[in-house]
Amino acid sequence: MAEKNIFEKIIDREIPAKIVYEDDLCLAFEDIDPKAPVHLIVIPKLAIASVDDVSAEAEGVVGHLFAAMGKIAAKLGLSDGYRVVTNCGRDAGQEVMHLHFHLLAGRKFGWPPG
Ligand code: 5GP
Repeated sequence: MAEKNIFEKIIDREIPAKIVYEDDLCLAFEDIDPKAPVHLIVIPKLAIASVDDVSAEAEGVVGHLFAAMGKIAAKLGLSDGYRVVTNCGRDAGQEVMHLHFHLLAGRKFGWPPG
């Protein structure tokens, strides 16, 4: 069996994380190296490596993740706005091969992104 990636270990509670939201399909926790006052990682529990690997069966899970992010933003009172980012592949700087969305807030963000 393949070695679990770091996010699968967080799902299985094999390594600690500051979890802010969880339901049957997804998990959200604080990034260990935050790039903004609020920096959460939002992941599906289903093993999906990246945007490249979203199968037809997994489309509903991805929609669920966006609905969850809206709920989390409301719960945290992010009424001034927030940014949702996903890195896919080497040029985008994806480090962990488990689909994840960065939910960032608490400061102004530049555009275009670096
Ligand atoms: P990527 O570069 O793959 O889009 O983002 C991976 C993110 O996961 C990075 O922002 C990094 O700080 C975060 N990260 C990596 N390892 C851990 C960990 O063990 N715990 C937590 N909470 N975040 C992690």
